[in-house]
Amino acid sequence: DWADANIHILNHGLHYASCVFEGERVYEGEIFKLEEHTDRLFYSAKRMGITVPYTQAELNEACKNIVNIQKVQNGYVRPLIWRGSEMMAISAQKNKIHVAIATWEWGSYFDPKLKLNGIKLDISKWQKPSPNSIPWDAKAAGNYMINTLSKHFAEKNNLNDSMMLDYQGNIAEATGANVFFINLDQTEIHTPIADSFLNGITRKTVMEIAKNLKIKVIEKKIKLEDLQNYKGCFLTGTAAEVTPVSQIGKYHFTVLDIIGKLSDLYQSLVRKK
Ligand code: PMP
Repeated sequence: DWADANIHILNHGLHYASCVFEGERVYEGEIFKLEEHTDRLFYSAKRMGITVPYTQAELNEACKNIVNIQKVQNGYVRPLIWRGSEMMAISAQKNKIHVAIATWEWGSYFDPKLKLNGIKLDISKWQKPSPNSIPWDAKAAGNYMINTLSKHFAEKNNLNDSMMLDYQGNIAEATGANVFFINLDQTEIHTPIADSFLNGITRKTVMEIAKNLKIKVIEKKIKLEDLQNYKGCFLTGTAAEVTPVSQIGKYHFTVLDIIGKLSDLYQSLVRKK
């Protein structure tokens, strides 16, 4: 129960961001790509030096059980792993590792009306750190601070999200989703190389869908000024699903039919029941 889900104020997750997590979607009572998410959760934990006191199979079972018990039909699952309270300083060698899984009914991440016309993105002044600054491919709480700063700044300016650049000024990702661009004659889709940000499970899924449609998908370094060479843009993520983008800073994009098609095919894949 919500009221019983308490933790002590003195825990290493809260104070020092010793915490990794996942974000999964439930469609018609089933978690989409559960095994892939659990793989990433354990990978994130390993990258952060956290040994998970359960097996992946146990966590998969627990995720399925909680969704069934809570009777979530279309919603979200948030497994969370964090260091406890035994040591309260930088070192946390003796801290117990805790695991929790929450789930709730949940709809669209972005307002569905906004999604139709494409969302508007700010350009963040905060860059993704270089790959040797932090385990960048971990879905870890600490990595999200610059994303929250960027998203808050965008929302203050009535924008829906923020485009983050990497430490070399290349386009990286939005604050909770990967990004794709469609070239002017709509023959190719370009996306940044995932070498300093999460290689999203939805990113990989949508790349497969595009390839099945015989659309060429190219991973490459993309600079801000290259955005003038693109006609369309969309985001992908477990929460964001496939979301068209109409604006990034001064660059404008059209909500192209091809984005609708990719979104429809994604929806039919996740709701295959
Ligand atoms: N980047 C960030 C920062 C994210 O939070 C997410 C959502 N997990 C993604 C990309 C997309 O990842 P996925 O498709 O696996 O949800």
